[in-house]
Amino acid sequence: MRRIVALERSDLLWPERGRSGAVGARPGPRWTATRVVLLLVAGLVLAHARRPDGVVGESTYLIVTFGAGVVALVAALRRRRGDRRVALLLAAGVAASAMADVLYLTVSIVTGTEPEISVGDPFWVASYVFMIAAVLSRPNATRFRASLDIDELIDFVSSSVVVILVLAHVVDLGGLLADTTVPAGVRLVWATYPVLDGILLAALGRAVFAGRHRGRSGVFLSVGVGAWLASDLGYMLGSDGYAGGWLDAGWMVGASAIAASVMVPAPQRGPDEVPDPATISSARIALTLAPVLVPSVLDLIAHRRGVDAYPLALTLGSAVLIVCALGRAARLVTIRDVQREQLRSQEHFARVLADSSSDASVVVDRSGIILRPSPHLATMLGAAGSDRTGSDLVGLVPAGERERLRILLERVAATPSIRMTTEIAVDDAGAATRWLQLAAVDLEHDPVVGGIVVNLVDVTQRKLAEQERDLLALHDTLTRLPNRALFQERLQVALERRGRAGRGVAVLYLDIDDFEHVNDRFGHASGDCVLTQFAGRLVELVGAEDTVARVGGDEFAILVDARERPAEAARRLAESIAAACAGPIRCEGNEVALSASIGVAVSDARSVPVTLLRDADVAMRQSKSGGKARTTMFDEQLGEAVGRTRRLETDISSAAPDGQLFLEYQPVVDLSTGSVVGLEALVRWQHPELGLIRPDVFIPIAEAKGAMRTIGWWVLEMACRTIAGWPDELGDVTLGVNLSACQLADPMLVPGIVEALAASGLPPTRLVLEVTESALVDDPDSAALRLGELRGLGIRLAVDDFGTGYSSLSYLRQFPFDVLKIDRSFIQSITEVGGMPPIVLGLLELGRRLGLEVIAEGIEHAFQAAALHEHDCPFGQGFHFARPLAADDARRRVAATQATAPVVELAR
Ligand code: C2E
Ligand code: CA
Ligand code: CA
Repeated sequence: MRRIVALERSDLLWPERGRSGAVGARPGPRWTATRVVLLLVAGLVLAHARRPDGVVGESTYLIVTFGAGVVALVAALRRRRGDRRVALLLAAGVAASAMADVLYLTVSIVTGTEPEISVGDPFWVASYVFMIAAVLSRPNATRFRASLDIDELIDFVSSSVVVILVLAHVVDLGGLLADTTVPAGVRLVWATYPVLDGILLAALGRAVFAGRHRGRSGVFLSVGVGAWLASDLGYMLGSDGYAGGWLDAGWMVGASAIAASVMVPAPQRGPDEVPDPATISSARIALTLAPVLVPSVLDLIAHRRGVDAYPLALTLGSAVLIVCALGRAARLVTIRDVQREQLRSQEHFARVLADSSSDASVVVDRSGIILRPSPHLATMLGAAGSDRTGSDLVGLVPAGERERLRILLERVAATPSIRMTTEIAVDDAGAATRWLQLAAVDLEHDPVVGGIVVNLVDVTQRKLAEQERDLLALHDTLTRLPNRALFQERLQVALERRGRAGRGVAVLYLDIDDFEHVNDRFGHASGDCVLTQFAGRLVELVGAEDTVARVGGDEFAILVDARERPAEAARRLAESIAAACAGPIRCEGNEVALSASIGVAVSDARSVPVTLLRDADVAMRQSKSGGKARTTMFDEQLGEAVGRTRRLETDISSAAPDGQLFLEYQPVVDLSTGSVVGLEALVRWQHPELGLIRPDVFIPIAEAKGAMRTIGWWVLEMACRTIAGWPDELGDVTLGVNLSACQLADPMLVPGIVEALAASGLPPTRLVLEVTESALVDDPDSAALRLGELRGLGIRLAVDDFGTGYSSLSYLRQFPFDVLKIDRSFIQSITEVGGMPPIVLGLLELGRRLGLEVIAEGIEHAFQAAALHEHDCPFGQGFHFARPLAADDARRRVAATQATAPVVELAR
């Protein structure tokens, strides 16, 4: 009974997962049902214990045991596949036992006696076999494994033998077997049960101590098997009829508890049990050998009590136990040998690894004295004594790197166990530099090491790859010259150095003129060849201190790091470059002559690389726009001009929308009467910060930035509205409006003008559109078409700045002009003493012949007006008559000169 009590507390041994785990956190309906059944069972067990005999006794017993068998079988079959094995074995055990009970009862009822052995016995025996198998199984193994390994099996056999011997001693099995009054077969069957009990008890003990059956189901299992064994023991010990009710109660409890263990959910799967590697402790050896003593002890006890010992059983038992102990000892020896061999091969492996590696590992003390050398160190450092204990590692590395190593050792010693690295360069005599990476860690506290471990690895290949990568990152791949990034880096260094000395450096920015033609004519391969050769010439020309860089496709920058007067040096260099360009470059059978536009910027105290390079670039662009093949020195003025232009470029698109534009009107005068016959609208930009901007400055910018269309429409509408708004008495002066190239290209030009005229009410005949020859070159055909349409509407057309273009005459034939405006430059060539230049006479004659109205532009002096009038030039325009005027002034001027007046009087 005490054993059962112990087993009831056995949830201490089974870590009860169910309590906190998913299974038992909240009792499920299944658990509730189990409890009801258990209560019922408890009632039946109590009823049976009180009245074990008769119909009530038999039926309560059979209901519980048979019921338990059926319930267990059903529950086991309903388990999930993986959890089913142990459950099925248990159910089979309970069912076989119940079956045996039924058969036994049937036989006894049929024969009217209680037989000593019956057909029930095979089922009872089977029930033990199932139980033993179930208890020994690993219920939580994720896959099927042999339930016992060899060591476990030996332990299990020896513990079974011990338990059987003890049991046999306690229940006097020897006496039973020797009882010749009972048939031998019956004795044999009876003797089977204590043996099976012994094995089951040994199995249960193992399972409990190994914690193999967990959770609530494990507790039920142990309680069940325990109760079962207790009743068996009680039965074997007791005389017939002794406490028969309570023994039955034990079996009933056993059967139902085992059934319950199948009914409750399977315990959660744990990880596979890993058999612990056999540790060879003396306790373990003692535990292995102790069972051998059991037979002798039993023999001694029997002898003391004057009972017969059964030498055959004890000898057999001893033999088995000795075999087990030997087997176990042999296993322990094997394990030890295997472990030793493993250790040896690990050491060997480590040594082979260290020897075959090209790295070197040495142990040094904090001052760098080698405590444990490495055979590879000598090859790595190429220094004698590298392989000796007691050498100074610091002294073995090249002199220039000693400080680095010393610092590494110091730092490492200050922070034990932290690994730090450095790299040193080693020069082999006559050979290239090699790079070694040194990684050190202080393991002085480690008794096996006892110093600083320094690991040396040859990283030359990596280092070379890095250098190559850096070279590529900072150099142009075609010419191998430094690129912009490296140039700026060098410029930075030079600026700092020169700045400290109070001197400056100069930067040349150089762009090959028309290089795209080289590519277009000879192909890109030739282009590359030309660039390479050109780069070579530049490098030859510059001083050793100077840097030539390729900063763009055909753009180069040169850093002139002259000791004094950098501007002068740069100018001289630019001259020699220009001279060197003159010699043609030969590439792939082609000869190419080059010129370059050069810009020079000289540093001052505030210069930084980016701005200096940008200034030189600006100066270069100035050289380009100034006609190429020349050198421009950057100065403050150029800088300001460029700054201003940039500003205008960003601001131009908001000029019209922001109301910063306004118009002035310059009168066109009838040279014979002096009266104003027309006004030319001229646009101005009042920039909020830069002040008044003249049209010949901002109109090219507006055209380049795409703002001219908007400005053009604004001018047209504003001018038409203003002039049309004047009272009729002012007569019908014409309105001249200038059109730019992009307006001429605009498909909306004609409808837009029609709309502006309609909106303002200005008759088309009063509008004169002025077009320069340059505005016609881009697309003369569509321009001719548009101008034709406009003329068809009654609008008049003037050719502006006539005589400055190349194809003036052909344009006059191609386009339907009404008015010819002789450019200012011709008029200014009319001098007081020289009279009329033939070219002006020719232009006047041309106009007359073609039937065009001629306007002379830019008349600044009375004698010019007089001379033109004398040669029958009908109209004139210029400061002599009036500067461009504000709208109101223009209006007054028109009013004042309505009356016919002689030219001379008008002139002032
Ligand atoms: P342009 O069409 O030849 O206009 C005449 C220019 O000559 C005006 O300069 C005017 O002020 C100037 N001028 C007139 N008389 C004299 C003189 O006696 N001596 C001198 N030295 N100059 C005289 P402005 O207003 O600076 O305009 C320059 C140019 O800008 C114009 O030349 C015209 O090509 C363009 N422009 C002006 N307004 C517009 C416009 O609304 N649209 C377009 N597309 N171009 C315009
Ligand atoms: Ca004009
Ligand atoms: Ca003009």
